[in-house]
Order: sequence, then structure tokens, then C-alpha cells
Amino acid sequence: MKTKRLLSMGPPGAGKGTQAANIVEAYGVCHISTGDMFRSAIKNGTAMGKLAQSYMEKGELVPDSVTVGIVKERLALDDCKNQGFLLDGFPRNLDQAHALDTILAELNYNLDAVIDVSVENEILINRIIGRRICRNCGATYHIEFNKPKTEGVCDSCGGELYVRKDDTRETAENRLSVYSSQTQPLLDFYKGRGLLVSINGDQAVEKVFADIKNQLGE
Ligand code: ADP
Ligand code: AMP
Repeated sequence: MKTKRLLSMGPPGAGKGTQAANIVEAYGVCHISTGDMFRSAIKNGTAMGKLAQSYMEKGELVPDSVTVGIVKERLALDDCKNQGFLLDGFPRNLDQAHALDTILAELNYNLDAVIDVSVENEILINRIIGRRICRNCGATYHIEFNKPKTEGVCDSCGGELYVRKDDTRETAENRLSVYSSQTQPLLDFYKGRGLLVSINGDQAVEKVFADIKNQLGE
């Protein structure tokens, strides 16, 4: 199987993280989620975490000067070279997309596909508000659509499930508006390069993944 270099680009709550777990398992790629990297920095109390937190709590984008740097460092590591990667939640604006072009050119990488998982806003709000995450392993659940076997407990590792601080209705609405003004225009950018793979995200998790696999091939 050829090493894959992928982006996933849907709006918040579309199922990017959920599908990333399936994609990583099927294709063996490294999962690079800028949101996860920021949450880990916040948990560890680093200076970058403190800065990122102030933007994340409002649903704003963390400044490019910080975000581009962490992606550049991560992509340069050997595991990305050997296994390929799935960038999840980056780029989120045109400047980040241009910065990514430069990083990929320096590393001599080409993208294979940009996966756009689309879902209507009203559904997205409910998905975001009902999301639960495992504090220990990061697995994602939903109180209605993807319930853990025991409420509040992770099926995979027994860890405690928590609600992300930015998963309130108010912040979710702002994140969706940031997505439509800053991130959605990137779909045309990648469509113009023939890389866009459009997926209907308003289907069962397994069906969404089957569609992704169908489009990506082996
Ligand atoms: P993103 O990473 O795009 O923000 P997540 O993967 O965290 O989105 O999914 C958001 C929420 O929606 C989670 O609670 C997840 O369990 C749920 N979810 C993901 N995919 C689906 C789906 N196809 N149908 C219903 N709920 C879903
Ligand atoms: P996510 O986990 O992808 O939903 O991202 C959660 C939050 O992290 C976003 O609302 C932003 O505040 C921040 N974030 C994640 N990725 C980026 C990015 N590429 N650029 C700027 N901010 C980001």
C-alpha cells in the first residue's frame, strides 16, 4: 500500500476526529490534530497551552505564528516520513494553507487527498454539545449518537469522559462562523488542484468511513 499524505477539512463536529481513528487504523498514517496538540499543551500547563487556551475558549483561531510552527516541527519527524500522515484541523485559513505548501515543498511531500466531511450546521451543534472525550486515551463519544457502554466511562481504556470547554452552544456557534468565513474557502483552493474528496458526513460512522475508503482506495 502506498504511503498516504492526507488532510481532513470539515467543520467542527463533522466527525474528523472520529474518522481519523479509522483512517489511522486502516492506512497506518500519523494523526496530526492541531486541536489535540493544543489541548495537550493546556493539560501540561505550557506557555503555548496558556496562549492557545485564551483563543480556544472563545472559539477563535490560535494565531498562525504558533500553529504553523507546531505543524512544521511535527511533519518533519521520521514517523510522518515513514508512515505518511493525516493532518486534522490544519490548515484553517488561507495563510496556513500557503504555509503548508512551503513546509511540504521543503520536505518534498505531495498531498494525496483533502477529505471534506460535510454536515449541516443544526446537526453539528447537537454533535458538538453532546460530545464526550476520554481524558486518558482521547477516544470520542456522543451522549446520543455514539454512547459508551457505561455512562461517563471510556469503552477502550476505562478512562473518565469529559466535556471540552469549547463545546458550549455559544462557542460552537462562533466556531462554525469562523469555519464558514476562514476555512470553507480553502475547499475551492484544494478543489482547483484536483485533491478534494467530498464525503457526506450525515450518515452512520461506519458508512462515512466506507465512503472515505472507497474514494481513497488502497
Ligand atoms: P470533529 O473532530 O470534526 O470536531 P468529532 O469526530 O469529534 O468531530 O465528532 C463530533 C461528535 O459527533 C462526537 O461526539 C462524535 O461521537 C459524533 N459523531 C461523529 N461522527 C458521527 C456520525 N457519523 N453520526 C453521528 N455522530 C457522529
Ligand atoms: P478542534 O480540536 O479541531 O475542534 O480545534 C479546537 C480549537 O483549537 C479551535 O477552535 C481553535 O481555537 C484551535 N485550533 C485547532 N486547529 C487550529 C488551527 N489550524 N489554527 C488555529 N487554531 C486552531
